[in-house]
Amino acid sequence: MKYSNKICIIGGGAAGMMAAGTALSYGADVTIFESMPFLGKKLAITGKGRCNVTNTAPIQEFLENITKNPRFLYSALGAFSTEDTISFFEGLGVRLKVERGARVYPESDKAKDIVDAMRTYSSGAAVINKKVKKILKNADGSFTVKADGDYTFDRVIIATGGKSYPLTGSDGSGYRLATSLGHTVTELIPSLIPLNSPSKLCSDMQGLSLRNVAVKITDSEGRTIYNDFGEMMFTHFGVTGPVILSASAHLRKYDISTLTLSIDLKPALDEKTLDARLLSDFKDKSNKDFINALGDLLPSKMILPFISVVGIDERKKVNAITREERRAILTALKDFKIPLHSFRPIEEAIVTSGGVEVKEINPKTMESRLVNGLYFAGEVIDVDAYTGGFNLQIAFSTGYLAGKSAAESLY
Ligand SMILES: Cc1cc2nc3c(=O)[nH]c(=O)nc-3n(C[C@H](O)[C@H](O)[C@H](O)COP(=O)(O)OP(=O)(O)OC[C@H]3O[C@@H](n4cnc5c(N)ncnc54)[C@H](O)[C@@H]3O)c2cc1C
Repeated sequence: MKYSNKICIIGGGAAGMMAAGTALSYGADVTIFESMPFLGKKLAITGKGRCNVTNTAPIQEFLENITKNPRFLYSALGAFSTEDTISFFEGLGVRLKVERGARVYPESDKAKDIVDAMRTYSSGAAVINKKVKKILKNADGSFTVKADGDYTFDRVIIATGGKSYPLTGSDGSGYRLATSLGHTVTELIPSLIPLNSPSKLCSDMQGLSLRNVAVKITDSEGRTIYNDFGEMMFTHFGVTGPVILSASAHLRKYDISTLTLSIDLKPALDEKTLDARLLSDFKDKSNKDFINALGDLLPSKMILPFISVVGIDERKKVNAITREERRAILTALKDFKIPLHSFRPIEEAIVTSGGVEVKEINPKTMESRLVNGLYFAGEVIDVDAYTGGFNLQIAFSTGYLAGKSAAESLY
């Protein structure tokens, strides 16, 4: 039996819901297959529950924040831009605000408001809460979608997301659906991912957040390969937090175990000024034990690990600290070193780098160049970006374009 305007969307995440609502607005009959009991599970946990929905950086800067295949996204970002995302959500009654780094959030700080808006937008679609196991292309051009039963459609949009946070439903099964239809999937690696360290210092300081620190990652020859300023955190396995996640996107081609993280704990003070500050602090506390003289300089959780790094007896009187020892303290404050080991597993990544080869997708429509009537949207495609709202914008732009193109192709 041949259907006239039936579109199947596999995956009810950011890209899938955008594709669904858009295809509906073009008059298509839309069904979403979602393996989780409800739509938008990952979307609900984005931005630490606040959802950094997009970024208002000018287009050139926006593209510089896309780490893989930015040019592929020209048409999609043209068809549905950052401004479109903002008016889209405001049109659905979600007030937005712009924060540091041009990051856009709902005014309520609740990702749920974004999820609810997307559900409203796509609410005309039928939702089948089943996992799609296979897609077959039929001789008459239609598709059979297998998900505990066979379903027939005219067009299929794969919007199954990446491989990270599998408990949200994005378990990588979409890559298998794409390869079974003849598509190439490039190497899948974690991006925006915490880093393991072999150093006990990290577990000793687990839970400690450092704000306003300058971080640098150096290779085995001491060359700086990344630097940044902001917030990071120690954990039982190593390091995480915004600057670490951003750094990880730059480390793909390196053997992480040869790299060192260097933290400048006092970036606002140059060495000379910091030395003068140390001298004056130590003068005020000259009769105290060293361990009791660091409270104004370091967070309490860091004092013992710091002392182990500088190698000074914690019970030494401050007035007995030598010039060389003060030098070691200064060095540790400006260049606190943490050896690195590896990325955390891909399941813990914010995004998956790699995916369906972009050369096999028409960037003007998101349609497969290999299988007529098959479309892709969102993280399943081999595109990814830094933190800042860029990844969700990619999902919305490609979802919009795929939904529109698939629906238009029916008439
Ligand atoms: C903790 C965390 C925080 C993040 N915060 C931000 C942020 O603030 N801003 C930002 O821009 N990006 C953020 N991201 C990244 C962003 O969430 C993703 O890039 C985005 O969700 C991708 O959208 P998508 O629709 O392609 O995939 P997803 O949102 O992952 O949706 C895919 C859907 O497909 C379903 N599915 C998969 N396979 C099948 C199948 N075989 N059958 C049926 N259904 C299937 C899944 O259940 C899922 O619901 C964050 C990611 C994480 C993990």
